[in-house]
Amino acid sequence: MKDLSRNYINGQWVDWSGDTIDVFESGTGEVMAKVPAAGRGEMEQAIAAADKAFESWSESTVDQRLAVLKQLHAGLKERGAEIAETVCREVGMPIKLATGIQAGLPAAVTETYIKMLPDFAFSEQSGNSEVQYTPVGVVGCITPWNYPLHQVILKVVPALAAGCSIVLKPSEIAPGSAYILAEILDGTDLPKGVFNLVCGLGQEVGDTLIKHPDVRMVSFTGSPRTGHLIAHAAADDFKRIALEMGGKSASVILPDADLKAAVKGSVNNCLLNSGQTCTALTRMLVPADKHDEACQLAAEAVAKMVPGNPLEETTRLGPLASAQQRDKVLDYIKLGIEEGATLVAGGVDKPDGVNPNGYFVSATVFGNVKPDSRIAQEEIFGPVLCVIPYQDEADAVRIANGTAYGLSGAVWSGDQERAKKVAGKLRTGQVFVNGGAFNPLAPFGGFGHSGIGREFGKWGLEEFLEVRALQL
Ligand code: NAD
Repeated sequence: MKDLSRNYINGQWVDWSGDTIDVFESGTGEVMAKVPAAGRGEMEQAIAAADKAFESWSESTVDQRLAVLKQLHAGLKERGAEIAETVCREVGMPIKLATGIQAGLPAAVTETYIKMLPDFAFSEQSGNSEVQYTPVGVVGCITPWNYPLHQVILKVVPALAAGCSIVLKPSEIAPGSAYILAEILDGTDLPKGVFNLVCGLGQEVGDTLIKHPDVRMVSFTGSPRTGHLIAHAAADDFKRIALEMGGKSASVILPDADLKAAVKGSVNNCLLNSGQTCTALTRMLVPADKHDEACQLAAEAVAKMVPGNPLEETTRLGPLASAQQRDKVLDYIKLGIEEGATLVAGGVDKPDGVNPNGYFVSATVFGNVKPDSRIAQEEIFGPVLCVIPYQDEADAVRIANGTAYGLSGAVWSGDQERAKKVAGKLRTGQVFVNGGAFNPLAPFGGFGHSGIGREFGKWGLEEFLEVRALQL
């Protein structure tokens, strides 16, 4: 078991002797680490350190920032295998995928900012004005457990590139990779106090962070429930906020699409990380006359996703991250049955052949799901696909847009232009057209209850900048 009972404040590892939080291994249910349940005092110290460090880091040159990002990138590459194993054990993503995504994506995203920063315009001319883009101030970063390092990197790297100082409160459910990040940053030339890490419970250290007047921006990824609390707290002293929250994304399969390819693509997307992905395509919208065939194809696709030990190279579907998440998902599967949806595959029975103490749930497909039922409206965050029949294209668009969310989506058609036209009607931050590839330079974020603001690329950097006009 790893002892992580320390916080990183003002360039020092500060030992913690108070209460700790157990971190559980998703595949076995065993305690794999302990982290601090730090108090408001530690968070206040970290904010004070970040506030002091902002004075000089906000004036650092692009070259100084670049040097640190390059050191960080090298560290992420060097410790990639350790990051992948840590996240695999905490969250349950199979090791092969965790290596590419949970460890690979943070390094890839860091590289995009290393490439972008030298040419980024921190000032521009507009008429007789010089418009300056200046760092927003101390940033509080609050992150969830499902892609625990990736979500941290999407905040920390552009915030550092912008010249902001940072206090990070990682998820207490999957904090290990944030500690690796702090260790890497500790070995770089980053001045003390620019990056701080405090681990603890949301209602304690998270609450202190979102309400502190010296924190000028809160960048949050997590549930809409916590997003609400942050938006309310920010209103009190007009803090800037960036919120990346949940989703209930639709995969719209048009009548002229290659049904087999579209169903396969949709199922694979929905089940990535056992469905613990905010952009997961959890609603599959199919023409009513193709509903049964689509369900059959979905059942065949999920049959290949047999739950297994996430540390094994051949495993494609791992457990969920926590007992609480497993129980929540099982409750939603029971609810789907009560709501009258057709159980096509999976269900509440414990999968065979896995550690009985791990948090495993079978990949589950519901057919004939009503668009306004709870399983079609609420984020389940588990391996559960809802197949929803539609009558015509307008009906499909109405159903796709018929939730409070708007994070992602997909459209499949034999005619690329038709697919693009339908994609343009979806009220969502991104749409995958005929299986288009993920792009780390494209803006990422949500409409409606999915969020405020954008991450990735230049949009992610602009979030951390204030605008000043010098009239000349
Ligand atoms: P959560 O909101 O429970 O927790 C997220 C973070 O907020 C954690 O660090 C937690 O400790 C902290 N927190 C909790 N209560 C707080 C409070 N009162 N004050 C301040 N901080 C507090 O979310 P979760 O369960 O960890 O993550 C799952 C959710 O995250 C899902 O809804 C998912 O869709 C969403 N998510 C969104 C994206 C995105 O980019 N849009 C990405 C991944 C996950």
